[in-house]
Amino acid sequence: MKNLNYCYRCGRELVKRTDEGRERYYCENCSDFVYRNSVPVAGVFVVKDDQVVLIKRGGEPHKGKWSYPAGYLEYDEKPEDGAVRELEEETGLKADENCLKLVATIQLEHPDKYVVGNAYAVHHQNVEGKLEPGDDAVDADFWELDKMRSRVEEMESPKIIDAAEDAVKLVHRSG
Ligand SMILES: [Zn+2]
Repeated sequence: MKNLNYCYRCGRELVKRTDEGRERYYCENCSDFVYRNSVPVAGVFVVKDDQVVLIKRGGEPHKGKWSYPAGYLEYDEKPEDGAVRELEEETGLKADENCLKLVATIQLEHPDKYVVGNAYAVHHQNVEGKLEPGDDAVDADFWELDKMRSRVEEMESPKIIDAAEDAVKLVHRSG
């Protein structure tokens, strides 16, 4: 994990200081801690039988790996809104926001931060549009759970497979 070097407010070089039993970054110019938080993302598993839509990542990190369609939330954006927006940007599919079910949170490590995904599931019948990769995705396709398990090295993380499995179960259980 990369270090944090400078204060985002004033540009001063940060020092380390212990706070509540944890070593944190501190700016002596601002007389304040510079907290490092995980970053929220949101995404959607579109479920059809025992398959989910995955996208092939066109950008770093994990370029060329398959993942669920997801992306960063804007600062004032609700997770459900961000999930629907990212799904459409990356796959061309438009999900009915009222049909989203929260299925998992997925923590993934990037070189400079941890991201925490709010992962939703939706039945493909509650989705419109033609599956087509867009934005940062270079490919988009339905993957069976078995195919994901047998090609785990092509996944961004095995956590994606666990969440996909939960998405399939949740969608079929609730009809
Ligand atoms: Zn500062």
